[in-house]
Amino acid sequence: MVRSGWFSRKPNGNKSSTDIPAGIVTKCQRCNEILFVRDFERNSKVCTKCGFHHKLSAYERLEITVDEGSFQPLNEHIISRDPLNFIEYPAKLEKAQTNTKLTEAIVTGTAFIDNKPVVIGVSDFGYMGGSMGSVVGERISRAMEYGLAHRLPVILFTASGGARMQEGLLSLMQMAKTSASAGKLRNEGILYVCVLTDPTTGGVYASYACLGDVILAEPGAVVGFAGRRVGNQDTGVNLPDNFQTSEFQAEHGMVDRILQRKEIRPALALLLKLFDGGRHNDR
Ligand SMILES: [Zn+2]
Repeated sequence: MVRSGWFSRKPNGNKSSTDIPAGIVTKCQRCNEILFVRDFERNSKVCTKCGFHHKLSAYERLEITVDEGSFQPLNEHIISRDPLNFIEYPAKLEKAQTNTKLTEAIVTGTAFIDNKPVVIGVSDFGYMGGSMGSVVGERISRAMEYGLAHRLPVILFTASGGARMQEGLLSLMQMAKTSASAGKLRNEGILYVCVLTDPTTGGVYASYACLGDVILAEPGAVVGFAGRRVGNQDTGVNLPDNFQTSEFQAEHGMVDRILQRKEIRPALALLLKLFDGGRHNDR
């Protein structure tokens, strides 16, 4: 008699019948609900139970935002050096590049949204916390300058802990540089839209992230210069629970609209239509 493989299978030492293979399920970071990876990804990494918006990589964001196959990267050849000989900085850059497959913490380029041309930039928090060093600042400024030169609207998705400490003052200078470029867009009447995602803080929040003609945000994102804990220490006041969230900023006039992830692409398409391909006349 031939015994089937099933009956001759040896018991597996440590595995219990409740073990689930990796890659099939994942857990919501907020409500701990067990979710099928397939459903989770189909829902653009928004928890189907509590609605928590998990972080997306730059290319995951582009995939759900721009017309399929339309993204063309710009300035990928500009990469970071180690101007201050900061301890372990080159190793951290290398590790971030390996983990994210990106050359820096922001991806910029041109694309179409609903057949309308745009310049778009997307931060990737997975690359050194999306921090802004010289190259991130330069890529943002060049994206804006490209928008100026070609009279294209500029859309930036932010996700950053702020300025990159490994480049010291050079990082802080990027705040002025990106703000100056945003000012030029304003002077030329070219639409600039910021979409704040979790988290948008520090020198990024205090510069280009706050300067859009229209500022959108995802729900529940940490948005602000410093967080609640630091704020409590500095002011000696017990700040509200939702302090430095997109909801708090919207209540106080710093965010125009909070949108669910799936609503962002249609909202951008509508803005591009309303602003006639990116031009406005408030000069
Ligand atoms: Zn959840």
